[in-house]
Amino acid sequence: MSTHHLLQALSLLFSLPLLSATPHHQQDQETTTPITRFQQYLRINTAHPNPDYSSAISFLQSQSQLLNLTAHLLHFSPSKPLLLLTWPGSNPSLPSILLNSHLDSVPAEPSKWLHPPFSALRDPSSGHIYARGAQDDKCIGLQYLEAIRVLQSQFNYKPTRTIHISYVPDEEIGGFDGMMAFVRSKEFEVLNLGFVLDEGQASMGDEYRVFYADRSPWHVVVRATGTPGHGSRMFDGGAVENLMRSVEVMSRFRENQLDLVKAGLAGYSDVVSVNPVYLKAGIPTPDGFVMNMQPSQAEAGFDIRFSPTTDSDLLKKKIADEWAPASRNMSFEVCLQKGCTSAKSGPDIAFQPSSSYVAYERIIYEWLINLAEEYLVIFITEKGPLRDYLGRPLMTATDDSNPWWPIFKQAVEAAGGKLSKPEILASTTDARFTRQMGIPTLGFSPMKNTPILLHDHNEVFLKDSVYLEGIKVYVSVIKSLSSFEGAVSL
Ligand SMILES: [Zn+2]
Repeated sequence: MSTHHLLQALSLLFSLPLLSATPHHQQDQETTTPITRFQQYLRINTAHPNPDYSSAISFLQSQSQLLNLTAHLLHFSPSKPLLLLTWPGSNPSLPSILLNSHLDSVPAEPSKWLHPPFSALRDPSSGHIYARGAQDDKCIGLQYLEAIRVLQSQFNYKPTRTIHISYVPDEEIGGFDGMMAFVRSKEFEVLNLGFVLDEGQASMGDEYRVFYADRSPWHVVVRATGTPGHGSRMFDGGAVENLMRSVEVMSRFRENQLDLVKAGLAGYSDVVSVNPVYLKAGIPTPDGFVMNMQPSQAEAGFDIRFSPTTDSDLLKKKIADEWAPASRNMSFEVCLQKGCTSAKSGPDIAFQPSSSYVAYERIIYEWLINLAEEYLVIFITEKGPLRDYLGRPLMTATDDSNPWWPIFKQAVEAAGGKLSKPEILASTTDARFTRQMGIPTLGFSPMKNTPILLHDHNEVFLKDSVYLEGIKVYVSVIKSLSSFEGAVSL
């Protein structure tokens, strides 16, 4: 035994009585590392449709106790807890900071994975960690806490502004019972937030990506009725034919948008994306469809997304004028989630996010069928707000007009990181709800040299070293944001 090992053994011996007197979780902290704690969090299966929120919350609570953070458990829906942790600042009159992440993840198909999706297996040769939720977004959820751990233990740092860390449910299924309910609550109002960091996306290159806006999604259902008839007869106004004519126009619009991207004139996030997601028509039999019958109903579903710079009223007009034009001698309605716009022909019901979407759809369907004529409805469900409470587009400024921007940018650079040009996120996150409240919100997940694998099979946090580097970035960012005392007017 070398002297070094002897000393180690002796110190272990002397520290034993002390160790046994410390609480169990404190022992855990001494034997675990940032990577093993990340693996522990990843092994909790919070994938839909049955996310294990309670195990995730108790794990996070035990971690937060070690950092002396106060914890509040909030419920805006019975089985969907939201954990809010707080590190109080020395000047509570200053607006506070919120670091947000979501608890849930999308489902995984284990058979398509190299390693089981909840094993959080770390390949020792590459440092890759395989797990659903590794990129989206359990990484940032724990990196926030690891950074606070470093600030406390290595820097003896005390924040000036209060820092809140939220773990919200429901993000992957719309956020309505999670962040949307939270931002509308009293508990949120009293936080007096000045700035929010939420999830971003991995970067393939050497720079970190940052997002100042999300695209807004519309779920669009095009539903047609028409004259039914025998499969042998040719006539105008069949339901499938009606549907296909609208779908053709929508496909042409889609092609034009994609051409702009291919020609380098716009980025994927700048154009309106229109993607068909389902088709439904025909009269089913036990082993297929009736082949000699033209059905009286047909429908297609589309996922449509557009940036905050897109004029949504113009887009609605385009839908009304071009996708279901009166010139085709066809009646149509554009229904938003609040209900059909025309009282004359639309069903007399308003859809609220809290009511049953399925029940509302059925009413629309029955109403359509009862019309018993050639008809087409474009039914749009807005999946969240389009403007903030003052009517402004949901965007966070990334120039000097936003006093938080230079603080954030310099903090990333001080940690040796570099930011690429701020972007609009192609998908949608909970950030839209805090932006709706007028609170500057940036999407940021410090992953560089990492392929974007969120929602993919074999979602992998490319390297453990990338995760550890991200903690360093957050140490710098959290320190700078929470010690910033400048006047901030929104
Ligand atoms: Zn996410």
